[in-house]
Amino acid sequence: MGAFHPALRPVLLQGYASLLSEVARAVVENRLSMPKTLLGVYSTAEVLTDSQRQCMEQAFGCQVLNQYGSREIPNIACECRHGNMHVFTDMVMLESVPQKNETGSNENRLLVTSLTNRLMPMIRYDIGDSGRLLGGACGCGLPFPLMEMGLCRQNDHIRTRSGKTVHPSYFNRLLYGKTQIRQYQRVQHSLNRISLNLVAPQALNADTLASLALSIHQDIDPQLSLEVHYFDHIPCTVSGKHRFVIGLT
Ligand SMILES: [Zn+2]
Repeated sequence: MGAFHPALRPVLLQGYASLLSEVARAVVENRLSMPKTLLGVYSTAEVLTDSQRQCMEQAFGCQVLNQYGSREIPNIACECRHGNMHVFTDMVMLESVPQKNETGSNENRLLVTSLTNRLMPMIRYDIGDSGRLLGGACGCGLPFPLMEMGLCRQNDHIRTRSGKTVHPSYFNRLLYGKTQIRQYQRVQHSLNRISLNLVAPQALNADTLASLALSIHQDIDPQLSLEVHYFDHIPCTVSGKHRFVIGLT
């Protein structure tokens, strides 16, 4: 059994990271064969984690490339086969402007001007992401300039009573390799309480839960309580994206 009709000869597969990883999981579980014509997978609109990338590359048998865009401005930048993000300067003008965020620290906000949308002007649009423009050329030979995404929005950081902030990727690393977790979302309710919403066919066992709590107490704050809740699915935002983190506001 194949996932594609034999008459279809797809070259590229494109989708939201969370959706593509669900497809990848089904491909691996059901041992579906992928068409030989498939050359690459574009993952877009959501943060692509290392474990998602690995799972997709295994399932689809080709390189996964991260594409940066939004519903308002779909094509901003895309990763090349050398793993660098190139800005589509023929379609957008991208600026990186240092700004103080709500927690008082500096971040480089990305402002995007669309050069192709003739119906709704998007001029220096604050898209809500951070990142930097980079100089230099890429070994792939593309003439498009390079950029680097900021890893997250500042209010997605875990915050503690002592004023410390912890990068949201902490939970990616903490849950790495726990393959029974299909999807997760971390919600910080207060400085003392964090929940982990999980979609997992089997609940985590007591040892795993104890080791998660221990890591959080050692790495973040000994007083931080962790609750784990299980869901059949975690609702997406109105634009259909999965949110990994809901931070304190
Ligand atoms: Zn390149």
